[in-house]
Amino acid sequence: MKKNQESKTETIKTIKEELLENNNKNAVSSYFGALTFDHKAMRKKLPKEVYRALQKTIQTGNKLSEEIAGAVAHGMKEWAMENGATHYTHWFQPMTGATAEKHDAFLTFDKDGTPIERFSGGQLIQGEPDASSFPSGGMRTTFEARGYTAWDPTSPAFLMKGGKGLTLCIPTVFISYHGEALDEKTPLLRSMDAVSKSAIKLLGILGVADISRVNTYAGAEQEYFLVDRKFYSMRPDLVMSGRTLLGAMPPKGQQLEDHYFGAIPNRVLEFMQEVEEELYLLGIPAKTRHNEVAPHQFEIAPIFERANIAADHNLLVMEVMRRVAERKGFALLMHEKPFAGINGSGKHNNWSIGTAEGVNLLEPGDTPESNIQFLVFLVAVLKGVYKRAGVLRASIASIGNDHRLGANEAPPAVVTVFLGELLEKVLDAIESGKVDFATEKQVLNLGLAHLPVLNKDYTDRNRTSPFAFTGNKFEFRAVGSSQPISVPNMVLNTLMAEAMDELADEIQSKIDSGVDKDAAIQEVLRAEIAATKPVRYQGDNYSENLQQAAADRALPNLKNTPQAMRVLRDSDTREMFVKYSVLSQEELDARLNTRLERYVKGIDIEARTLQLMLKTFVIPNVSEYQGEIAISFNALMDAAERVGVSGNTLKSQGGHLKELAESLGAVIDLTAELDAVIEKMDTLEEGFDMADYSADVVLPAMDKVREVADKLEFMVDRDKWELPTYSEMLFEH
Ligand code: ADP
Ligand code: MG
Repeated sequence: MKKNQESKTETIKTIKEELLENNNKNAVSSYFGALTFDHKAMRKKLPKEVYRALQKTIQTGNKLSEEIAGAVAHGMKEWAMENGATHYTHWFQPMTGATAEKHDAFLTFDKDGTPIERFSGGQLIQGEPDASSFPSGGMRTTFEARGYTAWDPTSPAFLMKGGKGLTLCIPTVFISYHGEALDEKTPLLRSMDAVSKSAIKLLGILGVADISRVNTYAGAEQEYFLVDRKFYSMRPDLVMSGRTLLGAMPPKGQQLEDHYFGAIPNRVLEFMQEVEEELYLLGIPAKTRHNEVAPHQFEIAPIFERANIAADHNLLVMEVMRRVAERKGFALLMHEKPFAGINGSGKHNNWSIGTAEGVNLLEPGDTPESNIQFLVFLVAVLKGVYKRAGVLRASIASIGNDHRLGANEAPPAVVTVFLGELLEKVLDAIESGKVDFATEKQVLNLGLAHLPVLNKDYTDRNRTSPFAFTGNKFEFRAVGSSQPISVPNMVLNTLMAEAMDELADEIQSKIDSGVDKDAAIQEVLRAEIAATKPVRYQGDNYSENLQQAAADRALPNLKNTPQAMRVLRDSDTREMFVKYSVLSQEELDARLNTRLERYVKGIDIEARTLQLMLKTFVIPNVSEYQGEIAISFNALMDAAERVGVSGNTLKSQGGHLKELAESLGAVIDLTAELDAVIEKMDTLEEGFDMADYSADVVLPAMDKVREVADKLEFMVDRDKWELPTYSEMLFEH
């Protein structure tokens, strides 16, 4: 067995080494994507006509014929086996927020019992996982709990290292037998179709014809923490819930702010290098790495890709990091708020829209036409985000992200848009009628062509904005670090499809009524700029002023997950998803149910873990220490007169013991209160009742007992306190 394992690792090395030798250089480009069934591998393994047919399918989205599928499967299997794979799996994104896979061996037996490896076209195109083990949000009754996975040929198949060998992973969508999406990828793909359709219509009105496809692009900046595994495994809270439920802030904390962009510790650097090497082999373009604000917090960012590929790749980044961390003796913390009082982790989702031919529609150019086109798409974003701010907020609501949004370190729960000084001026000028679109010179004089360049060293970049324009893309900063980006991108795409569609209709109806095209565009933009003004916010989003502004401007300010989830029940929200064929009513309900359930279960697990930690660590640890202090205090009392200890000294020491005893008493009482709070949970109605109770009663009960327990942490002898402390987890390397 051992031998086998070694030979597998060797196989991987050999491919890379071979490539390196062939190219005679140590460049990433020489092995980038070596573990994916990319164009190079396809050309090598597939007959010419099969390769061409597959490319056509990828571009048009049409179905593969059975014959072609068979040939592709054969070539893919040959390639996978040459590289050491023994199994294959359909890799998909169920509504749990993770990825799922069920492995099948290539191994089968011939009629005469001879073992052979086989992988058919049918097996490539379609799989049948047991759908009953994945959440359906109530969409299917148990007897028809069947679903199937279907290959998404736009996302390349890849070989995943794990355990003792390699597995061929086939990116798929997951659909019920009635055709409902059971995954997060199907709606994302549908939203990309909706964007394309609306954008082509709008471009057509602007006079840009012959566009075959418009895509959205995403680049996810992933933040995370690394802690030593020996500490992690001694913290039931980290293991069970991903965040510390107890633990006092160390005196050093974050005050020094010396971590950001500081030197990366060697052990972490090794981790990053190993991660990057695996990502490169998987064809994932990891680009930047650096320290983050908090101690032991880091970030990795790839180069942006088409949104559906970026979503797949972000999930792989998280998975690869988790595995490498384990190998290197680290635990990877993806939670949005692993440590109270210390900066949390987010995932900035950079998002743009562009034609398949490579024109970024959010980038102005140096002609009046391209600037007008830019302004139209910019205003579409403002319109969509303003109208659907609540849905966008709901798309990133989760148990972990609730701890982050609204605290003074992360984008707030209020969704506003930051545009920067220049664009503010431009929009104000258009609104007040100072610019005439019919005059070429006036449009050019707006200075938009300098935007992307200007933005590179922009000093007025607003880091507190949840949705900021950064030169030629928007950065949605409120996404949580652990969340798959499929959902927020699906919502962004859908609200954009709707806004573009509405803008196109408004402009068209003016043209139809006899207004000249330039004037029609100008009039519509002017009206929309005025109408969407409340969503533009240039101030500090962490300050109290924003809360007031949100109230004054009637912007949604949804403080927690249950509040945000209610937006998904609005008929207005439903109509949008249905109209753009992204989610049916039933599919939307399923997502609402699943997310509420995950929220409630998550808090239930946290509460029970805290209960356990209080009863098996805090209370016994403090009791033991208190016992020793009591004995020593008694001894002192006995000896006091003999050795001449003053009454004052006895009072101080007695006071210390009293404080300890009282705090311990409080912890015991508050633990009993927490017990009662948890018990009541079972009596509630599932859904919003339970979710509200979790947010309004369970979490505060947990905070209340934590406050006293954390105070005790600093009163008790370190040797008696069995849990690793914040200082140890955050400052020891
Ligand atoms: P910054 O540091 O200014 O936030 P970077 O240039 O480092 O920006 O990019 C941050 C992320 O945004 C990267 O993942 C990058 O690939 C991505 N990105 C850059 N341009 C675009 C674009 N047009 N669309 C989507 N994402 C983009
Ligand atoms: Mg950024």
